[in-house]
Amino acid sequence: MTSRLPKLIAFDLDYTLWDLWVDTHVTPPLRREGDTPNKVLDKYGESISFYRDVPQILYRLRAAGVIIAAASRTAAPKVARQALDLLLLPHKPGERHHNLPQTGHLKAIEFFDQLEIYPMSKIAHFKELHKKTGLPYSEMLFFDDEHRNREVATLGVTFKLVPDGLNLRAFEEGLTEWRNAHPDLVADGHEQGQQDEESEAVNGSEHVGDDEDEHGDGIVFTNDAS
Ligand SMILES: [Mg+2]
Repeated sequence: MTSRLPKLIAFDLDYTLWDLWVDTHVTPPLRREGDTPNKVLDKYGESISFYRDVPQILYRLRAAGVIIAAASRTAAPKVARQALDLLLLPHKPGERHHNLPQTGHLKAIEFFDQLEIYPMSKIAHFKELHKKTGLPYSEMLFFDDEHRNREVATLGVTFKLVPDGLNLRAFEEGLTEWRNAHPDLVADGHEQGQQDEESEAVNGSEHVGDDEDEHGDGIVFTNDAS
């Protein structure tokens, strides 16, 4: 079973990474109480948090060297950016990753290499990602809760619908769909740089307890997901 990952994985924000629409349900200014992880409050005390599995997925992708992108068509791009800037990702013991600090929380926005946040068809967002990264669409996997955004598949992006938001199961299904769509890329994936990154991740991570490296990419989760 291959562990080849796409070179770029993009995520919608609203109802894909968190359970609200930032342009409808959130009133700026936003704030965070101290270093509280995964929680930001708006003007009226409404909270914004990532879905449970999102932090570990972002940590995993970053450790594997995958380019992480946000592709959102929200009408409130500034609020969305501010939420990403304020949200801290909890760093659980047992999720130790190569070349990442072993303590403290990291700002969510630091996990995102590319931010495409503006109200247009997501075709535009992916054309920008292609232009900025130089990567072919075949190396892109996109998670989104809205069926209408499947139109990016016409470019060659693999689209994974996540009607209940991102979770580990949907994430793995997305990876499988991408691999099935690109047997050619998967077959030669280990001749490229990714193998080196994965090897480093294996050597650099300190596995704890009885967790298994289910994904074969050297990253071990303390998997409390159902
Ligand atoms: Mg959405």
